[in-house]
Amino acid sequence: MKTSDLKHKVAVVTGAGGGIGRAVSLLLAEKKFHVVLAGRTLGSLDNVAKTIADIGGTAQVVQTDISDEVSIVSLFKQVLGDDGSIDVLINNAGVGRFGPLADAKTEDLDLVLNTNLRGTYLCCREAMRAMGARGSGVIINIASVVAEKGYPLQSAYVASKHGVMGLTKSLAVEAQALGVRVSAILPGGVDTAMVRDARPDLEPESLLAPEDVAEAADYLLNLSPRAAVDQIVIRRRGSSPF
Ligand code: NAP
Repeated sequence: MKTSDLKHKVAVVTGAGGGIGRAVSLLLAEKKFHVVLAGRTLGSLDNVAKTIADIGGTAQVVQTDISDEVSIVSLFKQVLGDDGSIDVLINNAGVGRFGPLADAKTEDLDLVLNTNLRGTYLCCREAMRAMGARGSGVIINIASVVAEKGYPLQSAYVASKHGVMGLTKSLAVEAQALGVRVSAILPGGVDTAMVRDARPDLEPESLLAPEDVAEAADYLLNLSPRAAVDQIVIRRRGSSPF
């Protein structure tokens, strides 16, 4: 499937209002997807929709809180209607709460797990019901390099991203039999609001750009039917490779 050849296939992007989600949404719109922009803040989603319209693309804003199951079910109902379809789901929305574990509040743990892991899981479930029935589709989960090892002061966030990888690996096997591709992108530090909170020690010029992650997503969407790529790790040049 070549995204450049597609006309108005439907892509749902969570956390589309800023950072990586915004960059992925703009690239998908350039590749002629109709992009469903999901997130909590209408103003930022509307700005992305306007930019997409300015470049000749089509988008739809659906205010969604992925830590809330009712909101997720409503998102997919609005996209699918009675006879709609979803071709691509980018599970990008995520939050972090950072600091020493000994000082952590239980509600911060709940927020991080409910958003990053439970929210991603439930979005996968709703998408799989439609994609599995149709026998096609692509799901890309935005994990992180923190899904592969431990990082201090990030325990809840790191645990959530390890969980996202467990989910991705299991669903990838299950979905393959149904004609659906599932993969993960594991970025290192990307220049967004989140990294400034998580890693104030990193110089802005040492960070990846959101567009680097968008290009990896586009690569996954353009794979030949012969090939499967399960995960893409994008580290900052200069960071440790292994
Ligand atoms: P960001 O700029 O803070 O964007 C996060 C997005 O998620 C926002 O658009 C936010 O929008 C949305 N969001 C948060 N909670 C939500 C909820 N409950 N329901 C719906 N949307 C929600 O951060 P980012 O760096 O682009 O992060 C995007 C993804 O990349 C995250 O999963 C993050 O863990 C991952 N990642 C980031 C980095 C990095 O260095 N920046 C590295 C690796 C992985 P609203 O607040 O308007 O809802």
